[in-house]
Amino acid sequence: MTNQDCIFCKIISGDIPATLVAESEHAIAFNDINPQQAIHVLVVPREHHSNIAELAFANEAALVDLIRLGSKVADELSTGSFRFTFNTGVDAGQTVFHAHGHVTSKTPKA
Ligand code: AMP
Ligand code: ZN
Repeated sequence: MTNQDCIFCKIISGDIPATLVAESEHAIAFNDINPQQAIHVLVVPREHHSNIAELAFANEAALVDLIRLGSKVADELSTGSFRFTFNTGVDAGQTVFHAHGHVTSKTPKA
């Protein structure tokens, strides 16, 4: 399930480069190109769904896998305090319509 015009599908297929941080069966994690905090990683399901709610209803296993991957990345990179956010819809600031979570933290692990 991919969308030919989707930038995150192109990152997943390797057509567009990204700095990969971690990956799992259903998701990949890579650095945000425009970081808002010292740590800013995007966690993205391999399957194309337009937002996190769509993913939750379509593929429960992929949703859980994505949350676990983001938590693992946060555990590895931060001191344990982090945000995990899912902008959903234009008015909430969503700009890429392939489901993704932002893992952000201002306190990298020493
Ligand atoms: P959102 O506003 O929640 O849809 O988040 C989309 C995020 O994707 C933004 O924080 C962008 O900086 C990020 N982004 C867009 N294109 C790329 C890219 N090619 N590689 C990494 N991050 C990207
Ligand atoms: Zn996509």
